[in-house]
Amino acid sequence: MMGPSQGVIELIEELKAVRAVLSVDPRRRLKVRAPRGVLNDELSGRIAAFKPVLANLVRMSKCDKCRSTQFVDVEIHGGHSLRRDCARCGSFVGFPVWNPQE
Ligand SMILES: [Zn+2]
Repeated sequence: MMGPSQGVIELIEELKAVRAVLSVDPRRRLKVRAPRGVLNDELSGRIAAFKPVLANLVRMSKCDKCRSTQFVDVEIHGGHSLRRDCARCGSFVGFPVWNPQE
């Protein structure tokens, strides 16, 4: 799958590799905790560019209803977007990738 989602997935992998931890505060703003010296200008810039997308992804890492972390992602818009449902209770969780225009 190509599109704007491509860069954000790479970014998440890179952040994992340097042991940066992403979370969202109660106001749904993205928080990044990382070992000292890891967040250089380049990485910080990319985090800033993807902030809303990252915050959304973090928020969707757990089901609001049953706290499950197991999901079923369904391709929609011909594979350009993904809809996520909880694998345990079936609740709609969100859209990990939203790119209907392409
Ligand atoms: Zn659930």
